[in-house]
Order: sequence, then structure tokens, then C-alpha cells
Amino acid sequence: MNRVVVIGGGYGGLRAVEGLSTYEDIEITLIDQNPYHYLQTQAYGYIAGEFDVNEVAVDLYNWSLGFKRVKFIQATVSSVDFVKQEVFMGEEQLSYDYVILAYGAKTNFFSFIEGLRENSYGVKSLYRAFNFRKEFENVIYKKLQNTDDSSSQELNIVIGGAGLSGVEVAAEMAHVIKNYSKTIGSRAKEIKIYLVDASETILPGTSDYIIKNTFKRLESLGVNILTNAFISKVDKSFVYFKDAEPLEYSFMIFTGGIKASPLNEVIESEKNKMDQLLVDKNLNISGFDNAFAIGDCIEMKGADGNILAPTAQSAERSAEYAAKAIKNRIDGTQYKGFNSSTMGIFVALGGKYAVGEVFKYIKVRGYIAYTLKTAITYGYYIGLRLRINTGFKNRI
Ligand SMILES: Cc1cc2nc3c(=O)[nH]c(=O)nc-3n(C[C@H](O)[C@H](O)[C@H](O)COP(=O)(O)OP(=O)(O)OC[C@H]3O[C@@H](n4cnc5c(N)ncnc54)[C@H](O)[C@@H]3O)c2cc1C
Repeated sequence: MNRVVVIGGGYGGLRAVEGLSTYEDIEITLIDQNPYHYLQTQAYGYIAGEFDVNEVAVDLYNWSLGFKRVKFIQATVSSVDFVKQEVFMGEEQLSYDYVILAYGAKTNFFSFIEGLRENSYGVKSLYRAFNFRKEFENVIYKKLQNTDDSSSQELNIVIGGAGLSGVEVAAEMAHVIKNYSKTIGSRAKEIKIYLVDASETILPGTSDYIIKNTFKRLESLGVNILTNAFISKVDKSFVYFKDAEPLEYSFMIFTGGIKASPLNEVIESEKNKMDQLLVDKNLNISGFDNAFAIGDCIEMKGADGNILAPTAQSAERSAEYAAKAIKNRIDGTQYKGFNSSTMGIFVALGGKYAVGEVFKYIKVRGYIAYTLKTAITYGYYIGLRLRINTGFKNRI
């Protein structure tokens, strides 16, 4: 039996386990610091109270039991010795024949923005998203009770970073507020959403179609969009800008950047400025063809040599590649380098509305785009649930 250790039960890690599990001569150990897989791509709906926790997190023990040769260990990996082929979890260690590093990234609360880390929330961990959700509910409750004691009647929620996650969170909250103004009264309208980015545009790097239609939708939901806005400092009450008046706020979320997981600090390999690993064309750590790295913890390049955005989609493509490459290495067969490009993008824009583009040619918006995005997400979720159902039966 070939022993494969997968570090990280995120989008990449789970897809790698699924791929490897189809080979009978491989046994897999999946390790994650949390006992659950967190569906970050659904965070916007969880924060805004549209989804429950069981729609954004699934138990990794039950999921792993749904396979024949998969074992799950809940532990924080502290280092990996590529020469001795061992994964360390504090005092514990585990030997491997092949290893896949899939431990993702975390929010980069830029240290040059004073007070950012202390005064804002992220959404890349369930814990932070949970706290943010409570804050949002709290604001709505205050408006419902009319117990808001702030000097101004307006309550500002600031979202720093107008990339995919920031835009989706802003749109969903704005949609909820708009809807609530019918039921809890016009006081809900006193909650203002500000989407702030230092770039010239929202969703930098996406097409004109996506940008234009997203902009329109956000405006119609009443989101205040501030581009070319450099946040210089954040304190308990105000967000300060380089070239504009400070903005009083109630709470803030930051989605403006990512940096690699802290584990990368101890991994001896070349890295980029965001501390992501620089891997070779086979997604190997330089010098170790039995050690693969995938997803957000690496700088991933597409077929054209351009850097791919850190997405669940890219994490899954790289995972499928790594699983096949390991099987090829076991069988001694030749295989090509990783060659992937982005298939498309769908942006959830509050309620039953989305904007999407597939293979750059198919462009959709509104309810159709929402239906397509929901179908993709639902397909992913159902796959997890089926595996969990099997695992749950196997457990009893
Ligand atoms: C709000 C939001 C919306 C998004 N929307 C989309 C979207 O619509 N489409 C899309 O494609 N992408 C989207 N993304 C991006 C996507 O979620 C990430 O790119 C994706 O999660 C990366 O997958 P991954 O497997 O590399 O890492 P992750 O999914 O982050 O998983 C990493 C795992 O490793 C574990 N881990 C970390 N360190 C250790 C350690 N030392 N020991 C053990 N375990 C460890 C973590 O607990 C985690 O479970 C969105 C992200 C956010 C935040």
C-alpha cells in the first residue's frame, strides 16, 4: 500500500482525497486543524443570515468514513520533513510515501494599515465569519428595537476589498437590509454598506461585462462604492483614508488580500511576496517529486503562464492533477505538467441575482446566472452530503 498524507481539508484537499480514493493501492490520511470542511464560497450567505451553519460546514470524520481507505486526523501540522518523509503535528509524527500540501491561505490584514487587524473581521475562517454574522444581526436588532444610541441614526458597515468575496458579502447584506425595510420598517435603511477598494475598479482582473453589471447591481441595492480609496488607519470608530474624510463605522470586514497559511513559514522552499510556495510545473516542491502542493498555499500558474486567481476552482483543478500524478508515479508512467485555466466566474449579487461568464463567451446575469451558480454550488454540496450519509452509516 502507498501511503498518501493530505494536509488541509479545504476545496483542494477534499478533491485530492476523492481522486486518490479511486485507486485501490493507495491509503490516505487527511489532516486538518478543524474537524470540519468550511465552504468559504458560501460565506456571504452565512454572514447575511441566509444560510445556516450546516450549509457552510461539514464534518470531516463522517465525510472520510464515507470512503474505504481514508482516515481523518484532527491536528495542526507544525512542519514537514521532505527528506525523512514525515509530517509533524507537534509531538506526533506520521510517515508518508507521498504528501499533498493543501493548507490554503488566510486573510492578509496588512500590517502597514494601523489598527486594521484589531478592528476588522475576516471571512476566511468559520470562527471569524460567525462573529461577523453576530455583529450583523446585532445591528439589525438595534434598528428593529430602535435602541441605537449612536449620535447619528446611520450605521455604517465597511467592507475593505472589492474582490469576489468583498463584493458578494456587500451585495448579500445590502439585499437583506433592503428586504428588511419592508418588515422592520424604514429604520433598516439607516444601515449603510460601504465597499472600499484601493484599485480603480471593483473586481480587478475580471472582464468589463462582469464589472459593469456587478456595479449596476450593487448601486441598485444601495451599496456605496468607494474606489481609489486607500485605507491608511482604522480605529474603534473611524476608517481613515489617504485622500478623503474619515468614515464613521459600526463594524468592518476586510477581504482585501490573502497571505499563505503560517505553515509556509517553516516549509523550506522558494516563496513569493505573499509567502505562497513556488512549485515546479508538476506542482512539486523543488527537489522532491513525491511532495505536491496545491490550492491557495501556492502561486499557481495557468496554461498561458499567467498567475491564476486563488479560487476554489483552481484549488480543485490542481488537486485533480496531483492525485493523477501520484498514481502515475506509482505506476511508473509518464505524465505532463499542470496545465489549467479558469473556466469561468459567477458572482452572487444578493438574493436570486448573479452575474457570470463561462469560457469568456457565455455571459449571463440575473436569475439565469443565479440558477447556474446555485446548481454548481448545490452539486458540490450534494456530493459532500452523499459521502457524509455513507460515512454516518459506516460509523454506527
Ligand atoms: C467569501 C469568499 C467567497 C469566495 N467565492 C469563491 C467563488 O465564488 N468561487 C471560487 O472558485 N472561489 C471562491 N473563493 C475562494 C476559495 O474559497 C479559496 O480559493 C479556496 O478555499 C482555496 O482552497 P484551498 O483548498 O487551497 O484552501 P482552503 O479551502 O482554505 O482550505 C485549507 C484547509 O487547510 C486547513 N489548515 C490550514 N493550516 C493547517 C495546518 N497547519 N494544519 C492542518 N490544517 C491546516 C484549514 O483548516 C482548511 O480547512 C471565495 C473565498 C471567500 C473567502
